[in-house]
Amino acid sequence: MSTAPLFQRLALIGFGLIGGSIARAARAQGLAGEIVVTARSPATRARVQELGVVDRVVETSAEAVKDADLVILCIPVGACGPVAVEIAPHLKAGAIVSDVGSVKGMVVREMGPHLPDNVHFIPAHPVAGTEHSGPDSGFAELFINRWCILTPPPDTDPAAVEKLATFWRTIGANVEIMAAEHHDLVLAVTSHLPHLIAYTIVGTADELEDVTQAEVLKFSAGGFRDFTRIAASDPTMWRDIFLANKDAVLEMLGAFQEDLSKLTRAIRRGDGEALFDHFKRTRAIRRGIVDLGQETASPDFGRPLAPLPKKT
Ligand code: NAP
Repeated sequence: MSTAPLFQRLALIGFGLIGGSIARAARAQGLAGEIVVTARSPATRARVQELGVVDRVVETSAEAVKDADLVILCIPVGACGPVAVEIAPHLKAGAIVSDVGSVKGMVVREMGPHLPDNVHFIPAHPVAGTEHSGPDSGFAELFINRWCILTPPPDTDPAAVEKLATFWRTIGANVEIMAAEHHDLVLAVTSHLPHLIAYTIVGTADELEDVTQAEVLKFSAGGFRDFTRIAASDPTMWRDIFLANKDAVLEMLGAFQEDLSKLTRAIRRGDGEALFDHFKRTRAIRRGIVDLGQETASPDFGRPLAPLPKKT
């Protein structure tokens, strides 16, 4: 017995890592009667057509949202406001309009005022990603066992929120609901600050005089390598995130700088006890993440191990 799809028509605006993953997962799960996609550049639209993972590729956002009952903007946060202006007159009454941006307060401020009252605006953020981008980078399994945070404004219809939550759960995500401002504070510490640290440290290593670049690369397994993965993330996306979440990031950066000063002082004074206590506490946090299933306990981060060299 076949059941009706959750949405008759799903419109995706933007087809990179996130848009491409949503499309593939929604298709695999039969969540939409039709998936319509648009992207900014003709090159991306042509590539989506070639990939054959959606039903229709159209040229404009206005065209894409026509008769769609779920519209998801999968574009950088800085582009959401202008796209909201473009699609507003073309949205179907009763449609759910959402996004996937990594910052929520700005998306609410910049999209909300342009959308008509007869649609349900439910911003969302799937906390899942890789350092890859573009139409070929998406995959259907990206959201499995990852969180998707919905930040509906206070007066949003609960049935619409539940319908969008069902969509995300069906493609593997765990759904959490919170206020947009709280989301931005939480993500500032769990995602934005770590990215800023990675961008800083990789830049610092690049500019050293006494240690050559070749040495940094050669001995990167000492810890540096894991920062380079994060620091390889998309420059446009991360520029937008820091501009969009300025206040929360600055607040967390202040706390971080205070803690860094404490550790600096402990090193300068040779205070091994302070360093040990701190590292013991942070190790427990890592174990907590593994216990929650958000990471594997394998020490190699999933990298395949080569066999030992043959004895000569
Ligand atoms: P991506 O792979 O670079 O794809 C971005 C898409 O947005 C492309 O289709 C691109 O079009 C389009 N685009 C770029 N600038 C635009 C503009 N000014 N106007 C209209 N469309 C524009 O990016 P992504 O990783 O999927 O990220 C998309 C969103 O997901 C961002 O808001 C990001 O904050 C959020 N997010 C990302 C991750 C992650 O780890 N990557 C995780 C969670 C949430 P063209 O291809 O034609 O240039």
